[in-house]
Amino acid sequence: MSMINERTDRNLSLKDRLTHSFPIVWEQLDEAETAAVFEMGERYKDFITLSKTERLCAAEIIRTAESHGYLNMDVLPEGYKPKAGDKLYRVNRGKALVMIVVGKARLEEGMHIVGSHIDAPRLDLKPMPLYEESDMAFLKTHYYGGVKKYQWTSIPLALHGTARKENGELVEIRIGEDADDPVLFITDLLPHLSKDQVTKPLGEAITGEGLNVLAGSVPLPKGDSESAPASSEENHKDKVKLHLLKLLEARYGITERELVTAELEIVPAGEARDVGLDRGMISSYGHDDRVCAFASLEAILGIQNPEKTAIAYFTDKEEVGSMGNTGAESAFFETTMAELMLLQDGTYHDLMLRRALAKTEVLSADVSAGYDPNYSEAYDKRNSGMMGRGLEIMKYTGVRGKSGSSDANGEFFDKVTRLFEANHVCWQVGELGKVDQGGGGTIAYILANKGAEVIDCGVPVLSMHAPYEVISKADLYMAAKGYMAFLNR
Ligand code: MN
Ligand code: MN
Repeated sequence: MSMINERTDRNLSLKDRLTHSFPIVWEQLDEAETAAVFEMGERYKDFITLSKTERLCAAEIIRTAESHGYLNMDVLPEGYKPKAGDKLYRVNRGKALVMIVVGKARLEEGMHIVGSHIDAPRLDLKPMPLYEESDMAFLKTHYYGGVKKYQWTSIPLALHGTARKENGELVEIRIGEDADDPVLFITDLLPHLSKDQVTKPLGEAITGEGLNVLAGSVPLPKGDSESAPASSEENHKDKVKLHLLKLLEARYGITERELVTAELEIVPAGEARDVGLDRGMISSYGHDDRVCAFASLEAILGIQNPEKTAIAYFTDKEEVGSMGNTGAESAFFETTMAELMLLQDGTYHDLMLRRALAKTEVLSADVSAGYDPNYSEAYDKRNSGMMGRGLEIMKYTGVRGKSGSSDANGEFFDKVTRLFEANHVCWQVGELGKVDQGGGGTIAYILANKGAEVIDCGVPVLSMHAPYEVISKADLYMAAKGYMAFLNR
């Protein structure tokens, strides 16, 4: 017996020395840090519940930044010159923003950036959304980002967005979130009549044009009818639609004309909730990628006087390719850095910005697919992010042989992992599923194309892009801790 034990012990120590694995975060935490994980989970649930759209998420970040003394770069005092430790923010059309802590080093020495996106898959209303059919009113939608359409039926939905009135006033629309507010709904076919539907491929059973949102059923009350005789067929037509328009006018002062140009999004109704009897996970709409946005917000709020300028960048339109003037491909970020250089030196040359970007280090803070044992056939378990094993680093993304991916340099990959280890950040590695199963992309390539070192690094998610996704509180905590270590240099 004793001899066998000896051998086992010797093997164990050799194994410890030569092999590598990633521990379960919960088992690495002391009592104080365990409490900190749950505290952060509570703050995050409040944040994500309020952040149902990119605009609402940006507004929440702006409110937090201002309450922490960040100055709006677009309304700085005359003659302002940034000095180390100064905190600035700049907003792009209410949908994207940067938060900046000015470093001791000059910008040409490079920056440390954590970049996340605050848009999420959803159903946008079409320009002419409202119609009546079979005595019910519906809203036409056009989905945004990658959604599995069948998942959006039979769940309570909310409507959020903005409409611009004739006088230019922007009205904020919010229906379906408060306990006494009505919700909206997309119907599915009853199983009794689904003989044809259930034999269709999952991706075809519910169509894009079929995602029509049930929004009303009560005709305009009799007293409200106008001019035409009450009995005529013409007068009866579209009375439910008319009733809805009347309610919208009363609540928001808008008509069908304002709906045409409004930006309105259908999202799941309700709050973020704990998952599991042990409350270790959170289910919510929009973890992708507001969980990484929240972690980078926590991180930048936690740093003081960094050596290099530290930046949290919250961008829009990632889910549809980062295009447009609020996406990461836009000039917003570089122009903002150019403005900062002008403030720093009173002069600006293109070469300064190029040099700064070439020396910049970036964490592309985006979620990844956590390993799901229910769908093991889609993953390589040895190279997947595991729920509760910490911040997941992805050297590359892409499809079919890494196409479209910004493959991080090994030296930078290693530097980031050593930094995490020095700061007691639990990290792990992963790929987005098994080879040739599908794939995806992030904003990583955009700043990498400008010369920066960039690596993807985020929170593993279960049921990604579903109306309700799941994350681990331990992974969220480690993301915030890791991003803070990265920015605080
Ligand atoms: Mn994402
Ligand atoms: Mn996504």
